[in-house]
This record gives sequence, structure tokens and C-alpha cells, in this order.
Amino acid sequence: MNVISKEVMHVGEMASGAALTVPVYRIKGSQQGSEQGPSVYIQANMHGAEVQGNAVIFQLLEQLKHIELKGDITLVPYANPVGCNHKNGEYTLGRFDPITGVNWNRMFHFDASIIEPFAQEYVNCSSEKIEAAFKALMLEQIEQKLNHNIYGLTTGQRIAYQLQRLAHQADIVLDLHTGPISSKHLYCPEYAKESAKYFDIPHTLLIPNSFDGALDEATFCPWWQLQLTLKALGRDFPIRKNNVEGECGIVKESFTVELGSQEQIDLDVAHQDALGILSYLQYQNVINSNDYHPKAMVRYSCMLEDYKALYSPMGGMVDYLASFGEPLPAGEPLARILRMDNYGDGDPLHYINLDHPVIPILHFASASVNQGTELYKVFSKFSVL
Ligand SMILES: [Zn+2]
Repeated sequence: MNVISKEVMHVGEMASGAALTVPVYRIKGSQQGSEQGPSVYIQANMHGAEVQGNAVIFQLLEQLKHIELKGDITLVPYANPVGCNHKNGEYTLGRFDPITGVNWNRMFHFDASIIEPFAQEYVNCSSEKIEAAFKALMLEQIEQKLNHNIYGLTTGQRIAYQLQRLAHQADIVLDLHTGPISSKHLYCPEYAKESAKYFDIPHTLLIPNSFDGALDEATFCPWWQLQLTLKALGRDFPIRKNNVEGECGIVKESFTVELGSQEQIDLDVAHQDALGILSYLQYQNVINSNDYHPKAMVRYSCMLEDYKALYSPMGGMVDYLASFGEPLPAGEPLARILRMDNYGDGDPLHYINLDHPVIPILHFASASVNQGTELYKVFSKFSVL
């Protein structure tokens, strides 16, 4: 049975002086040296209403107690204590910092200007040396931001950078989120497409090498850009497991895992989600096991640029009709909008459809919408993964 250690990380202070804290759970891998598997960082609930990841971390810990680990795993539920407690009436808000209005998952750090000089300096070093030195450089950058910055940080940056310091120590990062009302889907860097088949998630968004402040990007973009820069200098630096049996190599992958809908905890579904994550961790040689395999399912992928938001053409009350997951034929209605103010002397029902097939992935959480509210997000072009 593995020992799970717990630490309470201080990430800030409230006006009253009350500490903002985050629990950090760690399980050590049993292997050392060349036998050691990749290390993993998993966090949940960066957005306040997206709570299901906490239940998945619970189920993962329950399983991981009994599995031999090759690599270290760090798990952080309630990653954003401000967002988590940000209630208004019966609803949880917590997607945006209420003071600055900035999305809590757009405050992570990556300065692309570090790549070129680093690549020039290390181009002739061993892959192991490049990996260690680049990891140290990224940690040093975060350390500078946190502790050597006389003008200070916003509340959100302080939380984000402390989480990022943990994430940069790992080879694999899983950031557990949910949509509003949503199917399960995965944000996956294009180069890690093969790995997406090991999660039990039917929809994968393939994302390019550009940084917009999210944790997944902040942890994979630096490695991906380093790889491309070294390549341009004539140096191969693979960051994906090569599929030869037993060949581990350097692995750097990050995913945002969208577990379904917000404001919901379902421990049975969380158990299934944990099994899917264990299947991926087994594939990556993090756990010493043969028990976890991805479920057979049709998996669809879509490039990020083809992931489209559909905005409501009118205000009204929405009856969301399209179910998630399966391609919706052209012309079939996604939703109908009720306008009781038009009853009797106008058109009380308005159908919304598109002229090409799409896969609906998520929709707005409320039935009442303004003109221009985001109604659905859909895969507008897709292929089988
Ligand atoms: Zn989220």
C-alpha cells in the first residue's frame, strides 16, 4: 500500500487575514534512475463551478493506494480556493476573478523569449542535460515572478504561479475542468494526438503551439517550442514516448480534461473517469500495471480553429434539442427559442440549425439568453481519431 503525503500550500490571504490554502497530495514512485517512469501533476477546480475533478482525484487516490507507481504523482483538488467559494445565490461563479475580470485559467506564465538563447546554448548537450536545464530554467522563471518582483502580483497570478511551480516539476500535466452543460472532451496538443486514444473521452480538440495563459499551454508550449527550435538547429529532441516496448525516453504532455457539466459531483462517473486516466498513465509507464485499458468507442477529433461557438441570433428562452456526442445532420435543429411576447401576433418559436453537420459538445447553462449569448460549442469539422 502506497503512502499518500499531504501538505497544505498557502497561496494567498483574504482581507481578514484568513489564509487561502490548497491541499497537495503526493505519492512517490518506487523506481529510481533509469527505471523511473514519468512524473505526473493533476489539479482540479481551477474554475469554481467545475467541481467534478475533485471527485475524480478522490477516486484516483483510492485506486493509486494499491498500485505500484514508477513515477511520482502529485494531486491538487480545490486548486483555486477563491473560485471554489465564489457563490452567488445557489450558483457557483468562479470562472473570472471578480476584481479584475480575468479568467482564472489565463494567468499562467510563459515567456517565449527564453527559448532561442537556451537552444543555442544547449544544442550540443545530451537530451537528459537539456531536459534538466530547461526544467530548472522554467522553475527559475516562476521563482522570479513569485519572490523577486517588487511590484507584486494579482491574487490570481499568485495562485497560478504556485500551482505552476508544482506542474513544471512533472512530465505530464492533467488539468481537470468541466464545461457548462457538456459532453466529456479533451484539449490535446497536436503532437500528442496518439495519447488521446488512451482516455475514455470521445471528443478531442487538437490545439496548436500557441500560448494564451492556460495551464496546459504553459506546460506544453515551452517544450514544444524548444523542440522546434532545436530541430531548426539540426538537433532532434523528442518529447513523446516512442512506441517501442520498454522505451521510455522523455515525455512532456499536458491536457485539459473536460469531465462533463459544472455544478455536479457524481462519484460513480468519477470512478469511470479515474479508470480512463489510469489507462493513460499505464500507457505512459507511470504505473506498473496491466489492468487498465481504454474503452472501445468512436473517438472524434477537431482542430481548435474548427471548434465553433454558435451565438444566439435573438433573445429568448431556449429549448436545447441537440444531444451531445453524435454528428448532427445538416438542417437538423440544435435548439428552438421560445418568444412568448410574440404569441398571437407573431412567431413564438424560432428554430436554430446549421447548413453542415456538426458535433455538439456543450451548451450554455441557462435557458434564458440574450441576443449574442453563446448557445452551443460544436465541432464544425471533425474526423475519427
Ligand atoms: Zn474550466
